[in-house]
Amino acid sequence: MQQIKNFINGEFVAPQNGRYLDNFNPATGLVYSQLADSEAIDVVMAFKAAHKAFESWSKTPVQERANILLKIADIIERRRQEFAEAESLDMGKPLWLASEVDMPRAILNFRFFANRILQFQEKSSDMDGQAINYSRHEPIGVTGLIAPWNLPLYLMTWKIAPSLAVGNTAVCKPSELSPMTASMLGEVFNEAGLPPGVCNIVQGRGETVGDSIVTHPGIPLISFTGGTDTGAIILQKAGKMFKKMGMELGGKNANIIFKDAELDKCIETTLRSSFLNSGQVCLCGSRIFVQQEIYNEFMDRFVQATKNIKVGDPRDKNNFMGPVVSKEQKEKVLAAIAQAKQEGGKILAGEESLELPEANQQGYFVRPTIIDDLTDCSDLWQKEIFGPVVTVRPFKYKHDAIKWANNTSFGLSASVWTRDLKTAHSVAQELKVGTVWVNAWSKRDLRVNFGGYKESGLGREGGDDSINFYTEQKNICISY
Ligand code: NDP
Repeated sequence: MQQIKNFINGEFVAPQNGRYLDNFNPATGLVYSQLADSEAIDVVMAFKAAHKAFESWSKTPVQERANILLKIADIIERRRQEFAEAESLDMGKPLWLASEVDMPRAILNFRFFANRILQFQEKSSDMDGQAINYSRHEPIGVTGLIAPWNLPLYLMTWKIAPSLAVGNTAVCKPSELSPMTASMLGEVFNEAGLPPGVCNIVQGRGETVGDSIVTHPGIPLISFTGGTDTGAIILQKAGKMFKKMGMELGGKNANIIFKDAELDKCIETTLRSSFLNSGQVCLCGSRIFVQQEIYNEFMDRFVQATKNIKVGDPRDKNNFMGPVVSKEQKEKVLAAIAQAKQEGGKILAGEESLELPEANQQGYFVRPTIIDDLTDCSDLWQKEIFGPVVTVRPFKYKHDAIKWANNTSFGLSASVWTRDLKTAHSVAQELKVGTVWVNAWSKRDLRVNFGGYKESGLGREGGDDSINFYTEQKNICISY
């Protein structure tokens, strides 16, 4: 059985303790590979390699660094199908989705930041002929990059690309539930000529590998994407050490649909914003508010379309949804649905039988589920489930929709559907979130940063915000 090792100093190495964890195929429930069950000692080795490499990588001319990042992008593009298949097998997302969304975005992450760093210009200002001020964005050192399992390569490379582009080196930790494509990146780095030690990947569990990165005194910056509870633990530990931190956390995003919405496009997009990647996207619009006048029409069509969603083998391009990522995740989602029923929630879709091929019977499949008739304070309206489950409710007035949408401790994103410009602007401005899409959901623009708010995190990722985050900004004042 394949053993996924660590990638340290340009080489694939076994964990020092020689131990491995089972890695499951979510579509079959069977172990299909193993990953290194690394510990602090492996993180220390990765850190030493990254620390040594920083000396020359941080001084490597920007053009040379950009060329290597562009080569990395070209190699992933050449191996795109292979990467997509690996990602799909590893975490259960449909192959079409990995191929059409995750891989192109991972490629773009390297191209975007390679080009951006070449164009990046420092600012300077003259102080009334007395002095000149100029700023420098300097690399910080060894960065700790921790990514989740839902968009494994997409999110890991969204951290690696800017961090390396500005001259940092990195110790990365993929989720133990999705180790494969990050491991394949090691091969790509070597082929592209990335010097050994510049980017290291340590596989294993969050509470061992992740924690060792977070608490390592030589790593001054932590970029974390994941759950809010984990984020809080990391903040407590790394905050005490005055580390620079980026926290992209959970979402419980509102999708507000006004009576004048263009319904065809809205329903088609709402299916994606509700159930893409089995609802395991931080930006999913899991709370849907529909204006009273069109509530029945919208629900009839949305419920029917949801019931028609094909769920099954992620390799079959006819299936819109594969499984959720793990047995634990499936149990968590089913428990949330059961609780909603106990609280009087009405299941409008989700209870249809799942007809799965023999090979997928033990996979972690959940039907897309719509729940109505729950009170605003119920857990399902308030807590992130991170599965294919949405709650719906009608609203009469705009101010009610805004009030209910803002009644959450999360603040990642929202969608608003209306043809009225005034409504679009006024609602977008009132929503307490980092990103608002009007008549759209999750446009893939690298300059956009989703950002956080409240329980959704701290800081911003994307575009020049990433350049700022991964650098230390220094001001130099020269007197004439
Ligand atoms: P987790 O918080 O469980 O894990 C995220 C990463 O942190 C994993 O690599 C995990 O490793 C690691 N980790 C776990 N415990 C620790 C620890 N104590 N110290 C350091 N690292 C640790 O999140 P999930 O992987 O379950 O991802 C889902 C969550 O991510 C959702 O809440 C989702 O909303 C959020 N997310 C946010 C995004 C955003 O941009 N705001 C984008 C995508 C997802 P391991 O898995 O091995 O335990």
